[in-house]
Amino acid sequence: MKIFKFGGASVNSIERIKSMAAIVDQYSNEQILIIVSAMGKTTNALEKVVEAFYAGNKEQALQLFDTIKKQHLTTSKYLLVTTFNHCLAQLSEFFTEVEWLLHDKPVREFDYYYDQIVSIGELFSTSIISHYLNEVGITNNWIDVRDLVKTDNNFRDATIDFIESSDKIKKAIPIDGKTMYLTQGFIGCTDENESTTLGREGSDFTAAIFANILNAESVTIWKDVEGVMNADPKEFPDAQLIEELSFNEVIEMAYYGAQVIHPKTIKPLQNKQIPLLVKCFLQPHLPGTIIHNTKNKNLPPIIVHKQNQVLIELVSQDFSFVGEKHMAELYQILAHIKIKPNLIQTGAINIQICLDDKVEKIDQLATAASTIFDTHIEKGLKLLSIRHYTTDSIENLLKEKEVVLEQKTKSTIQVLYK
Ligand code: ASP
Ligand code: MG
Repeated sequence: MKIFKFGGASVNSIERIKSMAAIVDQYSNEQILIIVSAMGKTTNALEKVVEAFYAGNKEQALQLFDTIKKQHLTTSKYLLVTTFNHCLAQLSEFFTEVEWLLHDKPVREFDYYYDQIVSIGELFSTSIISHYLNEVGITNNWIDVRDLVKTDNNFRDATIDFIESSDKIKKAIPIDGKTMYLTQGFIGCTDENESTTLGREGSDFTAAIFANILNAESVTIWKDVEGVMNADPKEFPDAQLIEELSFNEVIEMAYYGAQVIHPKTIKPLQNKQIPLLVKCFLQPHLPGTIIHNTKNKNLPPIIVHKQNQVLIELVSQDFSFVGEKHMAELYQILAHIKIKPNLIQTGAINIQICLDDKVEKIDQLATAASTIFDTHIEKGLKLLSIRHYTTDSIENLLKEKEVVLEQKTKSTIQVLYK
């Protein structure tokens, strides 16, 4: 069995859905499981619905939701002929699911409502696409992934119950070499039938989980880029394609913030040695990138550039050395706030810590840390991480930049600058 994951951009128009069908059609003599994200920017739009709802603006929330509904109805009308009514019936159930919720007042935490509402985007897209594929002769079985992927109730960042999910997935999806299944990424369900989400961009992770459980032969992520590049081509026009990468390299790249693949995706695949292909849905004949168990040699410098960084300097209040007690306390605070440092450097009586500037979390962190340390915050910084750096690559990238902090290992350099 092969697993295909199509992201939001690959299904954001009638033309693209038709191209997706053409891609899938080429694999008609193999068994494929297809994971699809919400169409285009639907997830962002649904986030706005939740925000309005939670702020008490019920009318606005309903209006925003209505726009999303109409977009999906229009797409269905253009795509579907014989199965439109059937699809409409399915979509209407999801509409009702959200609308009855929006008519109430929020009484639970924000994240709970977020998951009930935002998860609907994937259900819309997969319903429409599944009907369309069936109409054009690509017979497939639509699955509500919430029946299979069971999670805890840590809304917005739910953890999958691997054993229970594994059991359900194996029962629902027999490996017979032919039957095609189509389902949602990114979402799951608690034992109490509450929808959950696995974290933004989580569909890659869903694909990897299915692959691991079903012992798939490969996972292919269809994207709007040629494959994995050594830098973001929007920022670095001479970025180049990397044709082959090891699992190790990709996990490192994800750690430093490369936006190639959701960071949780690699482990389930590496554990079962299942190769991951990143291919371009606009040019499906191109080879793309293969990520598998290999030893990379001669990689070009891989550049990860992060904007919007903040540097927090923590100084011990009584001039005592920064030791394991301070560090333990700091990590406890970080774990509690659920924020991950991008860089940490310690000195005699200070710790410097660089993080993404998520305003609310930075405020929380500064407040908590100020009970133990004197704190100083600097915002508006950028972080450049270069793996497999060369002297030239560092010089070029740092020309005329005011460096605030630098850390270097044999394989990676990280530079925080103004
Ligand atoms: N639709 C979700 C998001 O935009 C999940 C995904 O695309 O992977 O974050
Ligand atoms: Mg996406």
